[in-house]
Amino acid sequence: MQTIQLKDKRFQLYLSESEIQSRIKEITNELLKKFKNKKPVFIVVLRGAFMFASDLLKQYNSACEIEFVKLTSYEGMLSSGKINIELGLNEARIKGRDIIILEDIVDSGLTMLFFKQYLETLQPQSVSLVSFLFKPENLEHDIAIDITGFSIPNLFVIGYGLDYDGEGRNFPAVYQLAQ
Ligand code: 5GP
Repeated sequence: MQTIQLKDKRFQLYLSESEIQSRIKEITNELLKKFKNKKPVFIVVLRGAFMFASDLLKQYNSACEIEFVKLTSYEGMLSSGKINIELGLNEARIKGRDIIILEDIVDSGLTMLFFKQYLETLQPQSVSLVSFLFKPENLEHDIAIDITGFSIPNLFVIGYGLDYDGEGRNFPAVYQLAQ
């Protein structure tokens, strides 16, 4: 599909399903190499990263654990600047472990700054951040991303887990707001 309509907004195709899938293969291979002979704990940041995490983890054919956390910071198309943890983590599963955060998109970096600070209190061995998308122009906080799927300009995007006001997460490609 080239364009989709969600509520009052029209979106046009930005990253195709095949572009996304081939990048995910590369990312997974990089992680398999980096964590060879280790048993990392993946933390999937809900809800936006569910599709990215599912595609990536199906290909991660080595021992690992998977945890989920739900962080909320966005309402409509504007960041509320406030982050809540609705689903927390079991300290015992994080302490001393190699953690790989799977996030949908880093925009200002506030969410990941907050989450990484929270994780540090649970004393992991290491923390790596893998973000499907990254908007470098918007970054306001000092956040190190270990692996980025795609760096994108300052666009509002939906699809592949990302929503506009609750809709659009189900599409297998990424769409940008049409002008
Ligand atoms: P940050 O805290 O880095 O400013 O924002 C990160 C969160 O904002 C992401 O996890 C995501 O939920 C949301 N977000 C940022 N940019 C976009 C976007 O272009 N589209 C959608 N749907 N969500 C976004």
